[in-house]
Amino acid sequence: MKPIIRLLMSCLVGTLALPAFDPGTMAAPERVKVVASLPNLGAIASAVAGDKIDLTVIASGTQDAHFVDPKPSYIVKLRKGDLLLVNGLDLEIGWVPPLTQGARTARLMPGGPGFIDCSAGIRVVEVPLSLSRTEGDVHPYGNPHYLTDPLNAEIVAGTITEALKRIDSASAQAYEDGRRAFVRQLHEALFGKDLVNLAGGAKLSREALAGTLDNFLDTTSIGGAPLRTHLGGWLGKMQAVKGKSVMTYHRDYSYFADRFGIRVVDYVEPKPGIQPSAKHLEKLVVRLKQGDITLLLTRPYVEHRSTDYLAERTGVKVLTLPIEVGGAPEATDYFHLFDHVTDQIVKALSGAAPAAGR
Ligand SMILES: [Zn+2]
Repeated sequence: MKPIIRLLMSCLVGTLALPAFDPGTMAAPERVKVVASLPNLGAIASAVAGDKIDLTVIASGTQDAHFVDPKPSYIVKLRKGDLLLVNGLDLEIGWVPPLTQGARTARLMPGGPGFIDCSAGIRVVEVPLSLSRTEGDVHPYGNPHYLTDPLNAEIVAGTITEALKRIDSASAQAYEDGRRAFVRQLHEALFGKDLVNLAGGAKLSREALAGTLDNFLDTTSIGGAPLRTHLGGWLGKMQAVKGKSVMTYHRDYSYFADRFGIRVVDYVEPKPGIQPSAKHLEKLVVRLKQGDITLLLTRPYVEHRSTDYLAERTGVKVLTLPIEVGGAPEATDYFHLFDHVTDQIVKALSGAAPAAGR
């Protein structure tokens, strides 16, 4: 088939796949075909839309989101997609553009109606003063791992819901209901059901995003007891290790640390995406021997040599944790991901020497 004919046919097939172009027969409308670059985005879309969408997730939770191999099989999946959800901030710069270009799906390319950058509305941290990829830095627009803060999932759910409403307006109410149910579940998981019932999830979310939640919980009383006594969920669980210091392999826990009050004081990678030199590892040995860092968090997909060496030299505990759904057997969805991660961190940090300065 000549390329131009193939292109026309692929556009035609793509157009017919859109529910908005349902020719008006009595046939049931096709489900919106959503392609998510990463498992967390897919999990949020699935929580919002359930079986109203036909979901494909490209990367797995055990792959490094920065370095996914753009296999041709993904191109086939993209050709059929109505919406492409991406993390953005150049996290997928090495593999999503080759896939969308290979699929020739203009609607799923930046600027196209189906390209949904889920970083919209996120307060990005560690934004460099000037854009630079010097020395291989893979975070040129700031830290892209924003879904390690569950409250950012609320923002992403809103972005995905709006995109679904635009493309499938007939089901707008169902998507909105799905979003509300997801956000309610997220608030209850983060703050505890009791506190959400007393203070309201939206109020708690606003206080937490503004960085004033601690003050709100300590200065607001209900029935003579401060609201803090009702704090549960992941935040309640993490109170036991608040203020403690950890080291991470990659710079991917900044949002998590801000939300849960732990401190990431150094990284195995000297720059995001760059493996450590022997000299850098010696610097980390000196840092770890100060004794305030008892836990090193690493990922399923990075090399073990450096973390094994640091554990051997300093006795630091090394814990491999996922940051994406599917990155561990327990992380079956976005909620179980945080159940697992918070359980493991509390277990690993409990009983460790208290961090200095608390
Ligand atoms: Zn990164």
